[in-house]
Amino acid sequence: MTSTSAAAAARATVHGYPRQGPNRELKKAIEGYWKGRVDADALRATAAELRRARWQQLAEAGVHEVPTGDFSYYDHVLDTSVMVGAIPARHREAMAADRSPSSRLLPHSQLRSSGGTPMRRGCPLDGYFAMARGTQDVAPLEMTKWFDTNYHYLVPELGPDTVFAADSAQQVAELTEALGLGLAARPVLVGPVTYLLLAKPAPGVAAGFDPLTLLDRLLPVYAEVLGDLRAAGADWVQLDEPALVQDRSPAVLNAAARAYRDLGALPDRPRLLVASYFDRLGEALPVLAKTPVEGLALDFTGAAAGNLEDLAAVGGLPGKRLVAGVVDGRNVWINPLEKSLATLGTLLGLAGRVDVSSSCSLLHVPLDAAVERDIDPQIARWLAFARQKTAEIVTLARGLAQGTGAIAAELAANRADLASRAGSALTHDPAVRARAAAVTDADGRRSQPYAERAAAQRAHLGLPLLPTTTIGSFPQTAELRTARADLRAGRIGTAGYEERIAAEIREVLAFQEKAGIDVLVHGEPERNDMVQYFAERLTGYLATQHGWVQSYGTRYVRPPVLAGDISRPEPMTVRWTTYAQSLTDRPVKGMLTGPVTMLAWSFVRDDQPLGETARQVALALRDEVNDLETAGSSVIQVDEPALRETLPLRTAARAEYLAWATEAFRLTTAGVRPDTQIHTHMCYAEFGDILQAIDDLDADVISLEAARSRMQAAAELATVGYPREVGPGVYDIHSPRVPGVDEATALLRKGLDAIPAERLWVNPDCGLKTRGWPEVRAALENLVAAAREVRESL
Ligand code: ZN
Repeated sequence: MTSTSAAAAARATVHGYPRQGPNRELKKAIEGYWKGRVDADALRATAAELRRARWQQLAEAGVHEVPTGDFSYYDHVLDTSVMVGAIPARHREAMAADRSPSSRLLPHSQLRSSGGTPMRRGCPLDGYFAMARGTQDVAPLEMTKWFDTNYHYLVPELGPDTVFAADSAQQVAELTEALGLGLAARPVLVGPVTYLLLAKPAPGVAAGFDPLTLLDRLLPVYAEVLGDLRAAGADWVQLDEPALVQDRSPAVLNAAARAYRDLGALPDRPRLLVASYFDRLGEALPVLAKTPVEGLALDFTGAAAGNLEDLAAVGGLPGKRLVAGVVDGRNVWINPLEKSLATLGTLLGLAGRVDVSSSCSLLHVPLDAAVERDIDPQIARWLAFARQKTAEIVTLARGLAQGTGAIAAELAANRADLASRAGSALTHDPAVRARAAAVTDADGRRSQPYAERAAAQRAHLGLPLLPTTTIGSFPQTAELRTARADLRAGRIGTAGYEERIAAEIREVLAFQEKAGIDVLVHGEPERNDMVQYFAERLTGYLATQHGWVQSYGTRYVRPPVLAGDISRPEPMTVRWTTYAQSLTDRPVKGMLTGPVTMLAWSFVRDDQPLGETARQVALALRDEVNDLETAGSSVIQVDEPALRETLPLRTAARAEYLAWATEAFRLTTAGVRPDTQIHTHMCYAEFGDILQAIDDLDADVISLEAARSRMQAAAELATVGYPREVGPGVYDIHSPRVPGVDEATALLRKGLDAIPAERLWVNPDCGLKTRGWPEVRAALENLVAAAREVRESL
């Protein structure tokens, strides 16, 4: 095909679309099903209707080929485990009532005959949800982050005895639904290599087991699914291989080559599109280009923009279909259409056919920016959620196929919107910029080295050995949630709300004093969320009303948007912290969310380097830290639970990230006196990659998640000679279990193997907001008793 006819054939598509529906109907139906208020048929009907509405909307917007199989009741990786029959042994029994696990997800009308066994009403989805959430008797699959996004998937559990078996029912049913609407549809599957790379050894299997060794067993199952989809009318099938954008060994690259050579050699199969996203495909690009697959989908946004030159370097994809992800699928900004058209124009010379898509599934962005009412319309023009992104993709495809004249109006509007953003006072606050530009290395350094600070803090705080503390939040009770709802609905006024907060703080303080905790917290009752609370108080940060994004299962979050230059019009936490301090003689920790976590759990600016945004947030937080100190706080904690999770996927980019991330933390905290003690906190373990960075934060005390791993984090820090104080958690707050005194004592003794008594703290793994008061009371009393016991034995 010549490039002119390649252009004329350009089509619009997306890799996937938000699942929840305009009013989170899916979440409501599923949670209703769990509570027994919605029956299985009603849930399936809601799901089918949401899928139909979504496809229709995409088609009406001008999308030529809609995705299928991107829907899920919980998680698409779990769906893949069902599709390949990788059901953990402990769950098989729960599912034994029916032969086909995925048929549990289908309307009765679409079920193949299941050997005469009638389906029982109300129970067919239960085995699936049991794998996702666990039951009283059976533990769920582990959950972890999907690459560097905030979406979480259920980790496949595999072992040498895993027997795969194809179950294509759900994929075939969805394809059939979409084809039935008269649409061109493309099933989207997690690819076999990525599926295995995301898996972990099943419980009881040696940790050294490499799931990739199962590839030869898995490929025939994919072959069968592809055959079923072909028989059901699939022209193209997309296989997602995002795991190939990370640094991979020759063995993994060979596995990818083999997988797509073998699948490509199947006699009667759909055409195959292998998709990658989130970073450049790198060494895997020439590997995949050489396989017989008919198309590749590549990300051309952000860190992945280098795919363009890589593609040229390998001589393009002659004769193949290239699906060009030029619209950022994981951020919320309008697309620079002319720049994208230029990229697409270059790509035309590099492939047999070029289609336009999002960089990845639109699952990672909210549904529709047009329903936001509280965002200034001048700023709302800069935002593109899934609906708006779809329109951009369609526009770009039209521009590519028919020339820019065909989209002149869209280009003019886009130019104006981009100019409005670039020239806005919100994105360019001269005072913020001048301050950030004037930062020196000294601003990010404490005035004295740690040893001297530690002595000053010891004298100032007068804490016992093995001091006890908590991580910040106390139970977010139903009363607190009601109070917030009452305030929003106008049933109570600000004064009434604040009195409830004050009463809660009094109770939290009284409990901690009585329990004998040494460094107290106010309990964070006034915070809806540890990022949103600050976003609502900083200029340049936007909160959305309906910007829900799936975090996992039926849990959706509304990440705020870092839209402009960041400044702090007034103190954000000083009032409640000083109120709490006024109630006690013991130190009360000031409690802030750190700059890296603020970025990680928000949508970030794409018009300046991340490090610059981090620096602006850090300077605003620095003022808060200094104000807390002035108001009398001697201990201030700056939480950075997300430091590890924003680590770039490619190792080459990590040093630069860690440099600006640790600088932002130090900038936040370095302005205090030597005798003011700076704490930080991290959870979501696996600190192995960032031990040096943790040291570079130069915090006086760090509390870490460590109870489940039996103090592993403390041991790891000790191996790099970490010189400061450490509080490895001795209370696993993810479980309703109350640790006994003996258990906490044993963990503390283990902690002492790694960290000397003068530098060891006693605390839970994380905040207590998700726990109930009875457990928290008992657990903290035990924790104090354990600290006393170990102290006395020293
Ligand atoms: Zn935590």
